[in-house]
Order: sequence, then C-alpha cells, then structure tokens
Amino acid sequence: MNKQSMGGDFLFATRIGCMDGRVSRPIEEFVRGLLTPAEGQELVIDVIPAPGMDAILAGESNFAPIEQYRKMAEISVEHHGSRLAIVSGHNRCAGNPCTDERHNGHIHKAVETVRGWGLFETVIGVFVDPERDVHIAVPAEESVAVAA
Ligand SMILES: [Zn+2]
Repeated sequence: MNKQSMGGDFLFATRIGCMDGRVSRPIEEFVRGLLTPAEGQELVIDVIPAPGMDAILAGESNFAPIEQYRKMAEISVEHHGSRLAIVSGHNRCAGNPCTDERHNGHIHKAVETVRGWGLFETVIGVFVDPERDVHIAVPAEESVAVAA
C-alpha cells in the first residue's frame, strides 16, 4: 500500500517531545514551514508527549519505558502514513531540568533512538529556546529529502 495515500484528506507529521504546551505552537509552525500539503489536504500533527521526552529517548530518564513511545510512533506511521518526525527538547523543561547544552546532547541521542526505530523517512531534532524560537539541533540526513 502506498503510504502517501494513507492519510487521505490529511497529511500527517509526528511531534515527539515534551508535554509542555509552550512548545506545541512553535513546533507546529516549524513543521508547516517544512511540509506542503497537497491540494485539498490538511496538514495535521500527531503528538507523542512526555515530560522531558528528550531525556527519556536519550535513556536518561525513568519516567516511562521507551517502548511505549515506539508503539505510539508505529501508529502514527502505519495508520496515518506520517513520514516526518520532529524530536524536541526545550529550555525551562520541568521534566528535564538541565542546561541548553545538555538538552542538545539529549536531543542528539533521542534522534538516534527514533531513527533506530526505522519507522520515519525523516527525523529532525530541534531545540525550543526561551523566546520559543525553534532551532535545528539535528538536521535531516543529507541523503533523505524532507517529505513534501
Ligand atoms: Zn519540558
């Protein structure tokens, strides 16, 4: 089955990151800058949230088993046809209170984890700063074009 047809009227992407509501809109806007839905299609974003998700996926938090989030990602990919995952960490994170530098390290490891699942065509790591600006911490692999 052609994955591209699975979404139908919707073009899905997947946000894997903190439950913190402050990062939702900035990341949604970031995704809108990457993906252009086809005529008549609406871009929608599945959310896989947890407090301090970057630390969880880096293996440095015991909040919940990583497997649980892999299963959620599977639904996003296999049932919705999402091909793009945005993995995020952010400043002033209650679930993962640490320096920006440490977040950067967690985001790198988290992207490795999600790429290791082999589900998404493209995985990008981002950091959301105190002004809620989104910075690319881990770009898409050069060989993989961002799904459009
Ligand atoms: Zn957070």
